[in-house]
Amino acid sequence: MAKSGTKYVYFFGGDQTEGTVNMREVLGGKGANLADMTSIGLPVPPGFTISTEACAYYSENNGAYPEGLREEILDHLGRLEKLMGAKLGDKENPLLVSVRSGAAQSMPGMMDTVLNLGMNPDSAKALAEKSGNERFAWDSYRRFMQMFGDVVMGVPHDDFEHALQAVKTERKRALDNDLTTEDLLEVIDRYRKLYHDAIGEDFPTDPIDQLFKSINAVFNSWNNDRAIRYRQMNDIRGLLGTAVNIQTMVFGNMGETSGTGVAFTRDPSDGENMFYGEYLMNAQGEDVVAGIRTPEPIDHLKAVNEDAYNELLEIRTLLENHYKDMQDIEFTIQDGKLYMLQTRSGKRTVFSWLRSQVEMVEEGLIDKKTAVSRVPAGEFNKLFAPVLDTDMIKKNGIKSVSRGLNASPGGASGQVYFSAAKAEEMAALGQDVILARTETSPEDIGGMAVAKGILTTRGGMTSHAAVVARGMGCPCVSAATDLHIDYEKAQLSVNNQVLKEGDFISLDGFTGLVYLEKIAVKPSEIVQVLHGEMKAEDSLLFQNYTKFMGYVDEIRELKVRTNADTPADTKMAVDLGAEGIGLCRTEHMFFGTERIISVRKMILANNKIEREKALAELLPMQRKDFEEIYKELNGLPATIRLLDPPLHEFLPNDHTSRHEMALQLGVTVDEIAQKTAQLHEFNPMLGFRGCRLAVVYPEILHMQVRAIIEAAINVSKEGIVVEPEIMIPLVGHYKEFEYTRKHAIDTIEKVFAETGKKVEYKVGTMIEVPRAAVTADEIAKNAEFFSFGTNDLTQMGCGFSRDDAAVFLQPYVEDMDKQFYEYDPFAVIDVDGVGKLMKIAVDLGRQTNPSIKLGICGEHGGDPKSIAFCQSLGLDYVSCSPFRVPVARLAAAQAVLAK
Ligand code: ADP
Ligand code: MG
Ligand code: MG
Repeated sequence: MAKSGTKYVYFFGGDQTEGTVNMREVLGGKGANLADMTSIGLPVPPGFTISTEACAYYSENNGAYPEGLREEILDHLGRLEKLMGAKLGDKENPLLVSVRSGAAQSMPGMMDTVLNLGMNPDSAKALAEKSGNERFAWDSYRRFMQMFGDVVMGVPHDDFEHALQAVKTERKRALDNDLTTEDLLEVIDRYRKLYHDAIGEDFPTDPIDQLFKSINAVFNSWNNDRAIRYRQMNDIRGLLGTAVNIQTMVFGNMGETSGTGVAFTRDPSDGENMFYGEYLMNAQGEDVVAGIRTPEPIDHLKAVNEDAYNELLEIRTLLENHYKDMQDIEFTIQDGKLYMLQTRSGKRTVFSWLRSQVEMVEEGLIDKKTAVSRVPAGEFNKLFAPVLDTDMIKKNGIKSVSRGLNASPGGASGQVYFSAAKAEEMAALGQDVILARTETSPEDIGGMAVAKGILTTRGGMTSHAAVVARGMGCPCVSAATDLHIDYEKAQLSVNNQVLKEGDFISLDGFTGLVYLEKIAVKPSEIVQVLHGEMKAEDSLLFQNYTKFMGYVDEIRELKVRTNADTPADTKMAVDLGAEGIGLCRTEHMFFGTERIISVRKMILANNKIEREKALAELLPMQRKDFEEIYKELNGLPATIRLLDPPLHEFLPNDHTSRHEMALQLGVTVDEIAQKTAQLHEFNPMLGFRGCRLAVVYPEILHMQVRAIIEAAINVSKEGIVVEPEIMIPLVGHYKEFEYTRKHAIDTIEKVFAETGKKVEYKVGTMIEVPRAAVTADEIAKNAEFFSFGTNDLTQMGCGFSRDDAAVFLQPYVEDMDKQFYEYDPFAVIDVDGVGKLMKIAVDLGRQTNPSIKLGICGEHGGDPKSIAFCQSLGLDYVSCSPFRVPVARLAAAQAVLAK
């Protein structure tokens, strides 16, 4: 990779800016946008960016620099010093810089930043003199020692915090800001000792030494555990590394005319078109996000510094028009003057995505295609996330105990735990857990990932807890300042009420309210409107959803069906836009209390006559099931799969249930035990199931087909068009298909003759056995449709037992050196293997039957990446569970746009 002549460092500042907005891959998002903001004339402190290619070289070569990099960095530093008229760490006219990470995709808080670099006792004195503000100079120095010591040298952050706290306590200073110059000098002295004890060296005073150590620390942070975990959780792949931005410092900690803040150009929680942010005066960098003091809402800035506030408002509009999307910005005010330090496309909840994109279309800022391409399909089903039951709250007079910030939407109720480890432990036992922390840090990620809700007592809307929770779609209330958490006692107290670990607590992430009670959690507004429990005109969410799905459907080519086997699921799916049923599993219908008796009789039958008798009992029940489903479909197609699972699944396996069954059926427990033993299989997934059942016991197929067709005839009498699609499962050999198909058609003809009525119908098969895929041309001769059963096709295609695969699939997918499969093949179609089988089946099938209908009904039918693959195969439809239907519609539209 060390091509000689490669440029690794890019300047930004004045009219010398070298990078452009399109260079994200090389400059990282932060670097590219700093260059871009500089180019459009915004007040950005100058600096330079070291490319991600340099980081990649460094990682691949054990920390070595490519040839010439060091010189190139020093050259650019010289350029910066010249532009700024100051020299890094100089004792007369010091330049101070920040060293900031920034990859092509943003990973907030995952990598470390060093501020105030270039500080040493001499430059601190010079800074004090130049600024006429001694306190500020030493405050900056102590911040630098702390960040450099922690981030670059790995001295525990807590050691610094303790030393700082000790001085605050001894000298009775409540806040960091209350520390005087004297106090700060004492802190610095303690830091110096602490650093020496930990590292065995003096704190470095040579600015160049400081600089390169910090650059290396940023490079190293690319592969720290937090960063790796973050990339995994967010499916960030294929990046070279992080860029390093070296930027002239501006100071928000120069006193009360200085400050720092972060803002969103629209509300990141619900998407409302309003300026949304927070700031702190006399503060630096991370202070706002770290939750050290509770920040002020952005509109208060107007009273403090109206010019800066107005300038920010202008920049807000300018940036939105420039990037045509909601921006997340960082700014600092130094002695009254505004500087921009970062802009990026804002992370936001899916609610905010939906509203902001619909409104931007209506404002004429973007077109519908852009809107559709941006909303993350993987998160879309969070729109249907539950909310706290407000009726229950009213009826039972449940009072909230605190109102924090509504940091991430959704209602959550569960048992409270105060450490990530405990939350993980209890969640693994199946509890709904709420993680409550004073504030969260990246070490808490594991606990946050399993929590139903997250609560913090400090930190703002942009705190770690808030940002991460929004990313995860986990409800979060932050800064519930009335609450006090005592980690040692593992309890939370508020107004004399005490909550112990494991007690119930509820959070409303839409309003920020906290309740010390278990509260029922209710369906989302969209679901309520669909169920007729709320009026569409009362729900802005529902209106935006409807508009957005309109854009989606204009673009989409694939049809979206649903997997449903009850009338209720069918109705929900149709309401959510399903265009038919792609998979109706008939076995689920067999588990109902009455039916299971008849099913078991059928299984225990000693001969065909007994079996047919039991099946005759099932016929009317099964027919009624189909009638109800056809009515809900009201003309939409339904693919109905004949009985699929091995028969022993319908028999009880514990003694008590066997006893009950014996009584019900008037047989002996022994007889049942014997039959169960007979049906026992070593590999049930490869055993007596699917069409094999119908081949050996055609009478089961006769009953099911009869029920399907009789129901269709009955419902069509009511003027509803019904066109059932009878699907034969687990076919491997075309003769299996021909055999079962003939039985099906004979039955259908019989029913037509008996009733004197006819309906249109289709007979087709699932493609889920690899043999079927590679002989699809033979099967397609008489099959009217194929539906890919990708769960079994993956199981048999990869040779992975679905029920046993977790043990080895996890390392396969998560360990860097074992990622032989890019994703869990049961979650995302293994395109190169299973996908190839599908492609073969599509091509062969169309060879002998050009008009064959093609779909997919495995779990993959609701997965955006798999849907994109189905689009590329040219399937007619995908089918997924009811709540995935909108996700699938969106993913299908995005697949068209990505073509
Ligand atoms: P992150 O990617 O975690 O947001 P940043 O590199 O953006 O990290 O920096 C962390 C904090 O330090 C931010 O608040 C940022 O605005 C501030 N900061 C970074 N560089 C400078 C600078 N040159 N002057 C003043 N503040 C800075
Ligand atoms: Mg930042
Ligand atoms: Mg199957």
